[in-house]
Amino acid sequence: MLDRLPRFIDPLLYAERARELGGEIELNQFERLEDILANQNGKVIIELSFYKEKKLASIVGKISANLNLECQNCLKVMSWDCQTTFMLGLVQSLDEVNRLPSGYEPLLVKNQEKIALSAIIEEELLLAIPEYPKHGHNCLDIAQYGDKDVSIDIETKQSDNPFAILETLKKSGD
Ligand SMILES: [Zn+2]
Repeated sequence: MLDRLPRFIDPLLYAERARELGGEIELNQFERLEDILANQNGKVIIELSFYKEKKLASIVGKISANLNLECQNCLKVMSWDCQTTFMLGLVQSLDEVNRLPSGYEPLLVKNQEKIALSAIIEEELLLAIPEYPKHGHNCLDIAQYGDKDVSIDIETKQSDNPFAILETLKKSGD
C-alpha cells in the first residue's frame, strides 16, 4: 500500500470518505527535526486511516522510523527505533477540544482547509522522541575516560506551536 503520498490533505474530506494513506517521507523533509536528530538520513513509514464515527472525524496513525539521535550521556550518535501510534480528533473549536474522548489528541482544522501531511507526522515524531535519549549500555564511563568534564546540555522543547498550545488548553480543561 505504498502509494505516492499527497503533500497536502483535506483531513475532514478524507474522514468523510474513509480514506487510507500509506507511504514514506524522507526525514530531511522535517525542518523541526533538524536540531533534534544527529542527522536526517532515512525515512518515516506512515499508515493513516481517516474515519468518522458519530460526529467525530478522526485520524488513526502509525509511524515507524529509525532515527539517529545524540546520546545525552556520551554525545555520540545512537540509533533509535521509533514506533508510535496515535489518534487525532479533528476539531474546529476549543469547545470541541474539551469534548474529545480520552486518548485523542486534538488537531485543529477548518472546513475545506488543506494541511501539510508532513506537519502531522512531524508533530507525532517530536512527541515520540525522548527528551534525553541515552544508550542502553553504560556509555558514559567510556566517554569520560580522558575527558573529565562532560557537560550535558539541557534543551527545552519549543512551545510556540499550535499543538503545544492545544495540549495546554486540553490539560487545563480536564
Ligand atoms: Zn551514550
